[in-house]
Amino acid sequence: MDTVRSSQPRLANIVPYDPKYLPADEYLSANENPRNVPEALRQEISEEISAVALNRYPDPLGNELRDMIAQANGLTRDWVILGNGGDELLFNIALAWGGPGRTMLNVPPAFSVYEANAYLTGTDVVNVARTDTFDVDEDAVINRVSQGDIDYVILTSPNNPTGKVISEDFVERLLEATDALVMIDEAYSEFSRCTVLPLLKKHKNLVILHTFSKAYSLAGVRLGYIFAHPEVITEFIKVRQPYSVDAVSQAIACVVYRNRAVFEQEIDEIIAERDLLLERLRSLDGVEAFDSDANFVLVRLEGADEIWQKLYDKGVLVRDFSHAPMLENCLRVSIGTPEENRIFFDTLKEILQQR
Ligand code: PMP
Repeated sequence: MDTVRSSQPRLANIVPYDPKYLPADEYLSANENPRNVPEALRQEISEEISAVALNRYPDPLGNELRDMIAQANGLTRDWVILGNGGDELLFNIALAWGGPGRTMLNVPPAFSVYEANAYLTGTDVVNVARTDTFDVDEDAVINRVSQGDIDYVILTSPNNPTGKVISEDFVERLLEATDALVMIDEAYSEFSRCTVLPLLKKHKNLVILHTFSKAYSLAGVRLGYIFAHPEVITEFIKVRQPYSVDAVSQAIACVVYRNRAVFEQEIDEIIAERDLLLERLRSLDGVEAFDSDANFVLVRLEGADEIWQKLYDKGVLVRDFSHAPMLENCLRVSIGTPEENRIFFDTLKEILQQR
C-alpha cells in the first residue's frame, strides 16, 4: 500500500510540542538545574545501575521510591504515584478526569501541555485568564467552578512561564468551593520554598504534582510524582501504562531522593541568583521583569523576538514567548550558574545599548 488512511480528525489541528531546544553555548531556555548531579552521587548511581536486572520488567509502581517519598512526607505509599516525568501525570489527569463531555478549567498563561492534553482527550477547556500582573483572578475562578460543570482544574505554583506562587488561602477556598479535582502543579516549588502539602489530608479533591526534573537535576531521567488521596491515586493507576517508569530511572531517582539534602545549597544559590538577576534586569531601561518564585524570570521588552535572535546569535538560548497569547514581547530566562547569568545579562545589556 502506498497510502494510509488518515488518523483521527482532531490530530489535523495539532502541531507537535516543540521545546525549541537549539544548540547553544548557554542553555537558559528549559528551566533545568544548570548543574549535573554531583560526581559522588553519579558514582553511586553507576553502581546501582550496574545491579539492575535489565532483562526483567521493573516494579510497575516503583514501590521502593514510592515508599521513600511517602515516608519523607508523613504518608503511606497509597498517597503517591510515580510517572514518566510530570508530563505523564499531566496526561493521565486528562485521561482519568477529562474526556468527551467533560471540562478542564485552565488559568492562562499556563504550561501549554495542559491544554494540549485536554484537546487530545476530547476534553473541553474553560479559560479564566490571569490578570495583567499575572496573578490568578481568584474571585473569577471561584465563581466559575461554582457553576458546577468543571471536572478538573490545573493551577501552577510557581506558575510557568510567569513565575509567581499562588496563595495557600486561595487554594483552600477553591478546594472548598468545588468537588472538581484540583491539581496544583508544583514542578518548581523547591525554588519557592512553599507547598500546599499541608492541605492534602483535609481535601480529597487535591492533587499535587512534583518532579525530579528541576531542582534535582534529573530532567534527562523522566521522573515525576503526585500526592493525592488513595481513591484518587487508584484512578491514576487505572489509566497509566503499567511500566511507564523504567528500572534504571527508578534506581537513579532512589539515589537522588535519598541524598536530596545535597541539592539544598544549589537551590539556595539559584534563588539568590534569581533575585540578583531580577534586580539587575530592573536597572535596564525598557525592561519589565516580573516577580518570580521559580528558577526562571519572565521579562517584557519591546522587540522581544528580535532580541531573542540576537541573544541566540551570541550563543545564549532563552525561551521566546513573544507570540504566545497574553505574553506579547515576553522572554523567559532560566537561572543558570552565576557565570551563565552574568553572560546573559551582559549580552542583553550590550544588545539594548546598540539599539
Ligand atoms: N509542570 C510544569 C509547570 C513544567 O514547566 C514542566 C516542565 N516543563 C512539567 C510540569 C513537567 O516536567 P517533567 O515532565 O520534566 O517532570
